[in-house]
Amino acid sequence: MTERVNVLVLGGGVIGSGIAWALARAGVDGIEVVDLDLAGLYASSELNAGGARATWWQPVNIETCRSTLAFFGSHREEFGFRKLGYLWLYDEPGRFARALEKRELQNSHGLGVEALAPAEVTERFPIFDRGMDEIVGATFSPADGLVNPNAVRAWYRAEATRLGVRFRNRHYVAGVKTARASGGAGSVRRVASVDVIEVDRGSVADESGSLREILVTHRVPLEARLAELRIECDTLVNCLGAWSTLLSAKIGVAEVTRPVRRQICLVGVHAEDLAPGVSLENLGMLVDASDLYFHSEGAHVLAGYSIPDEAPGFDFDYDGEEFFERHVWPRLAHRSSSFERCGHVRGWSGLYAVTPDCSGIAGSVAGFSNLFEAHSFTGRGVMQSYGVAVAMASLIATGRYEECDLSPLTRDRFEDPARLVREELHI
Ligand SMILES: Cc1cc2nc3c(=O)[nH]c(=O)nc-3n(C[C@H](O)[C@H](O)[C@H](O)COP(=O)(O)OP(=O)(O)OC[C@H]3O[C@@H](n4cnc5c(N)ncnc54)[C@H](O)[C@@H]3O)c2cc1C
Repeated sequence: MTERVNVLVLGGGVIGSGIAWALARAGVDGIEVVDLDLAGLYASSELNAGGARATWWQPVNIETCRSTLAFFGSHREEFGFRKLGYLWLYDEPGRFARALEKRELQNSHGLGVEALAPAEVTERFPIFDRGMDEIVGATFSPADGLVNPNAVRAWYRAEATRLGVRFRNRHYVAGVKTARASGGAGSVRRVASVDVIEVDRGSVADESGSLREILVTHRVPLEARLAELRIECDTLVNCLGAWSTLLSAKIGVAEVTRPVRRQICLVGVHAEDLAPGVSLENLGMLVDASDLYFHSEGAHVLAGYSIPDEAPGFDFDYDGEEFFERHVWPRLAHRSSSFERCGHVRGWSGLYAVTPDCSGIAGSVAGFSNLFEAHSFTGRGVMQSYGVAVAMASLIATGRYEECDLSPLTRDRFEDPARLVREELHI
């Protein structure tokens, strides 16, 4: 069976859904989003930490996040956006000096980042009452905060649907056909169509079984296949997140993104264990000097830590108690007596789509007349989603960037070390 659409968006995570919405809002019609599992059981959009900040070291990341935070602020209730700030502790003078240097850049973008001496940290954040003699300083960015990423993605989808976008669930992107672009120079190609496989409902219904197998092995088992469909399109947008390289590989575009496992857990803390004057309510994101990050999450604390030597791969195994005992609890208890007796509740793992300079890839794909991409946001996709969506919609609909300029994020930067968009403030 063959179908034809105007714009085909591959991947309905927060980025693909956001771009579909922004395109429809810009008046583009005939948009379809294809995803294997719109519920997103293994999608990064579903599994992340809910942090939202504009405090980065690269102007393009600052600006896309700044506009996204403003958008979150204008839908505060719907997105559960809580402007509670980000606090970063530093125990190395060199790193702190770099943070202060970058603070000037951040504040030139209107972020109002404060520099705090250790004594100010303990006064304003009494949760930190241990190991503070190691701390040389901190920064606090009051405009940052926390957001419900699922609510953001759901909003993009609902609004996109209202504007006529079609979301096609349970369809696996299996192949892509290209052709020589008419009128273009000899080597320019265009995407002609995408082949998708419809997968039976049971295969994507829960965490066990075929869904995980498909996303890890990149093969659809025969028993899960229902039908095959070819979708012809005028424009294709690759928003497959950590899986974006699968499409790139099929059309000879260099793979630079690596999927890397990141783990998060919920920590249970008894109220009677909290040190005097300490409350877990309204804790924004707290980033320890050891790179452990945590914030309050309902009755618990959500804590995450990126194991530095994690090997790349489509790995969703969560290490459970071991992750908590080895990486989370020691860091929490080292800095706060309130966590001395805390316990592991549960946790999960998801994928960061990591690039060599830790910034995302967005724009048109060189060598193609109708291929665009927006993916690999390396732990930043939700907080960048609005800025990226609006910019990509503008590029696709009008051929140029208007609100946010994403041109530093095109993939050809990886061919020139001077153009890398090195982002170091990621966790
Ligand atoms: C543990 C963790 C913590 C994080 N914390 C934060 C944070 O605090 N703040 C923040 O902004 N970001 C955070 N991130 C990053 C953020 O979640 C991602 O950058 C963002 O969700 C990426 O969105 P996406 O739409 O590009 O990808 P995804 O949400 O992964 O969407 C990709 C979609 O592609 C689909 N797909 C894959 N292969 C195929 C195929 N062959 N056919 C059809 N469909 C396919 C998947 O089903 C999925 O729905 C975190 C990520 C992790 C893992």
